[in-house]
Amino acid sequence: MNGVIFDIKEFTVHDGPGSRITVFLKGCPLRCRWCHNPEGLKTAPQLMYKSTFCSHCGRCRIPCDHPECRPFDRCIHACVNGCLTVSGEQVSGEALAERLLKHADLLKLMGGGITVSGGEPLLQAEFVCELAERLGSVHKAIQTSGFATPDVYRKVIGHFDYVMQDIKLADREEHIRYTGVSNELILQNAAWLKQSEKQFVFRVPLIPGITDTEENLRAVSEIVGECRTELLPYNEFAGAKYSMVGMEYTLGAEKNRAENFTDYFKNAVMRT
Ligand code: SF4
Ligand code: SF4
Repeated sequence: MNGVIFDIKEFTVHDGPGSRITVFLKGCPLRCRWCHNPEGLKTAPQLMYKSTFCSHCGRCRIPCDHPECRPFDRCIHACVNGCLTVSGEQVSGEALAERLLKHADLLKLMGGGITVSGGEPLLQAEFVCELAERLGSVHKAIQTSGFATPDVYRKVIGHFDYVMQDIKLADREEHIRYTGVSNELILQNAAWLKQSEKQFVFRVPLIPGITDTEENLRAVSEIVGECRTELLPYNEFAGAKYSMVGMEYTLGAEKNRAENFTDYFKNAVMRT
């Protein structure tokens, strides 16, 4: 079957054990205000437009015969200033697995493997299951918000060797306010993950004034208990791509203020 991806990064070091190839699946049911991949939120392929370099020459508006340009009402190949790109590519599970497995031997040698990220990979559950099956014995990791029904979550997670799940906000109302969805399913799935045999890590994004408050960190530390946890510093450039997909970034470019976030958790590391 086909899925939609928006990026493949080779030899990443923060997406699971060892050196990895990470594939980013398009589409996410959450709308975290700090999301740094706004081009990964919608499931369908979409046009990205860098207005800064646009000379308004109108070349991309001249009708063309390319079938791939039809959905965008512009010729995506016409711009000599590099203003137009498309985020999102339809790809079959078979073709994607073939692409990802090209470096499988090298990844194994480096103690790594392949990571499926997003967006939210659980949104394309069937495709992800097929892809994981096609990847065979290579080490497989998944990065997820944990937002899915328990049956979907458990089915997909069952195909992976290692799980990285976010725990963003402990309070239900705050979670709705800042991500657009309740955290009930996320916490339910996290509880299941804790008692499962899976290898996993919880990840807590430290968003200034939102998730990095003392109240939230204490409550999140209660949820994760002694489980391995990574604290992810705020990405100050998170807003960089919003205008390219016609969205507005509503958080300021703040830095995390405190240095001692690990004090709140029993088994946490700060990712640099
Ligand atoms: S071709 Fe490029 S520079 Fe010309 S109008 Fe289109 S986006 Fe702007
Ligand atoms: S869950 Fe991840 S991909 Fe989805 S909106 Fe939040 S930060 Fe972005």
